[in-house]
Amino acid sequence: MDHFIYRDGQLYCEQVPVEDIVRQVGTPAYIYSLATLQTHYQRIAEAFAPLHPLICYSVKSCGNLAILAALRACGSGFDVVSGGELFRARRAGADPSKIVFAGVGKTDPEINDALDAGIGWFNIESEEEFWNLERLAAQKSVHTRAALRVNPDVTSHGTHVKTLTGKKDTKFGVDIDRAEEFYVQAAAATHVRLNALHLHIGSPIKTVQPYVDAIGKALQLIQRLRQRGIRVDTIDIGGGFAAFYEGNEAPHAEVYAAAIVPLLQNTGLKVLLEPGRSISCNAGILVSRVQYVKQGGRRKFIIVDAAMNDLIRPTLYESYHFIWPTAPTHLPASRLSTLRSPDDELVDVVGPICESGDYFAQDRHLPPLRRGDLLALFSAGAYGFAMSSQYNARPRAVEILVDGSNWRIIRKRESHEDLIRGEE
Ligand SMILES: *Cc1c(COP(=O)(O)O)cnc(C)c1O
Repeated sequence: MDHFIYRDGQLYCEQVPVEDIVRQVGTPAYIYSLATLQTHYQRIAEAFAPLHPLICYSVKSCGNLAILAALRACGSGFDVVSGGELFRARRAGADPSKIVFAGVGKTDPEINDALDAGIGWFNIESEEEFWNLERLAAQKSVHTRAALRVNPDVTSHGTHVKTLTGKKDTKFGVDIDRAEEFYVQAAAATHVRLNALHLHIGSPIKTVQPYVDAIGKALQLIQRLRQRGIRVDTIDIGGGFAAFYEGNEAPHAEVYAAAIVPLLQNTGLKVLLEPGRSISCNAGILVSRVQYVKQGGRRKFIIVDAAMNDLIRPTLYESYHFIWPTAPTHLPASRLSTLRSPDDELVDVVGPICESGDYFAQDRHLPPLRRGDLLALFSAGAYGFAMSSQYNARPRAVEILVDGSNWRIIRKRESHEDLIRGEE
């Protein structure tokens, strides 16, 4: 699952004790394992190999240049959702023809940049956007390809409403019952070829059935279009594969592939995947130091030096992150710590920000903690640093990449000067 392992009473990232790193770089610190990142990419690549897919890693899940460059070296393309992410992917050396660009509100400058770069596909989310792309491509006298993001109206249980995107009445994509006419009308465009279909039904999708349902509906649509003389040659099934937060709860890549590969194998369609979380989530931890321990009413608070500005998922999605000391007296039986040791205490792990929503865990069993102890927040690689901010004028954390027994800073800790850069 990952290369964050307790050995001789200490947490290691690959061959490096986590404490050795933070002794030099301080806390809070994001620490990524290169081997874990690569392993998760390879597992998806191998599981879906019968389809020869193009894997376009979702930059928004964790977009550090070193992370992107490592995945590019594995052969990955990139899924971007803004001009800024396109810039990042290109800086990391991405092959533009392996870039797909999604997002409901692409601006003209973003579209122009992507046209100039010669990206692989625009993932189109509305009629207006499609005809705007056609207009901009015609102005530049360039030709491009696009996929229509179809909203298949499938249900996925256990996905937070804030990250559910494949139901009717969300802002994403075009309703499947309008898609057929859309393709027919788009055939009149002269500079954009709408010959692909895009799905992204949300995240995380913890069972395969929503994919099976969505792909089934998409294939029927492609069949109906073929009868009307419109050829769709590419299907992009999006991202959303689950990762491991609580333990082994997520299906492995092979489980998704076992259901999806047979559906697409003999269709002749080129297949794209856009995994983000399933590659980056377990490849990163956030390490934080206990500042103070205090009692508040009946609750015991562990106040740490990371906060919701560093990792907002618990606040935003009520997400669970396994938390454990880097030098613990004992290990929990499971990440859910259902079997706890008698001296564990029931605590809230909170940050210093002036919001009661600034917490990482509530009513969590942890070994007794003292000022100065280090805590690791696991499964923080995806939507962790990427969603961080400077709220409360807190400089963003340092990012570290570990490779075997080596490690390096891949993003410096921000300084106070960084906080005011550009202000007058
Ligand atoms: C966010 C996003 C993804 C990646 O989702 P994960 O759950 O991280 O795999 C893929 N495609 C699109 C269009 C997205 O918006």
